[in-house]
Amino acid sequence: MAKGRVGLYAIQGETFTRTHTACPKCGPGIFLAEHKDRRSCGKCGYTEAKVTSAPAAPKEKAAKPKTG
Ligand SMILES: [Zn+2]
Repeated sequence: MAKGRVGLYAIQGETFTRTHTACPKCGPGIFLAEHKDRRSCGKCGYTEAKVTSAPAAPKEKAAKPKTG
């Protein structure tokens, strides 16, 4: 067999920004897919809710009287 040097990894000079969260189950090599309100792993199916710095949401009242 002929041996040849094949560039398997191409490192770009750009700064790698952590915009994605790594899957806690698969490891730091697998990133979670970004969704609107959650993140999910396409490999193991891990899903976690996205924590957003939303203002204090008003609690829903159990019994809401109808007006009118
Ligand atoms: Zn995973």
